[in-house]
Amino acid sequence: MTEPMCSLRDAASVIFNLPNYHVIDTIDLLLGGRRVVVQADRIADGCPECGVVSARVHAWCRQRVKDMPHAGRLELVVGKPRLVCGERACPRKTFIQTTGELPLRARCTTRLRTALLSAVIDQGQPVDQVARDHWVAWWTAQRCVNAAALVLPDVERLHVTQLGIDEHRYRRVRWFRDPDQGGWNRG
Ligand SMILES: [Zn+2]
Repeated sequence: MTEPMCSLRDAASVIFNLPNYHVIDTIDLLLGGRRVVVQADRIADGCPECGVVSARVHAWCRQRVKDMPHAGRLELVVGKPRLVCGERACPRKTFIQTTGELPLRARCTTRLRTALLSAVIDQGQPVDQVARDHWVAWWTAQRCVNAAALVLPDVERLHVTQLGIDEHRYRRVRWFRDPDQGGWNRG
């Protein structure tokens, strides 16, 4: 049996490396930067109303979303299929395909959201700096952090595994000479 020893994806898709998507077009923008147009590898999704899986395309639309910076400014455009629900009784006739990288109503790719969160939470960088490094508005980065905080478990119900001690100095130490004995005392 012969197995392929290399990737079957085209060069642009390999370099761009957005999971489960392939590059269908790239354009150099007049004012600098590039526009990359991608499309999902597999055109099929379950209807959000009834769950019936459909691969029948009703129409195509294009949406601009935020993604990781790649060697400078990058504009990502996703070609999204509007699929026809195959269930006759379903009130939703058509729906937009969603994926792991672009869930419903997502304006950023999952890999960008993960990178923003990692920079703020794991590396302790300020939100403003992280937003500038990733070419997004600060409120985009802040929204990612807020969304992550909302799914944290209730801290009151967690078991304490490690205790830390914070040291605070609330006033400056002053030395003064004792008027009776002449020695120095700490105030
Ligand atoms: Zn349906």
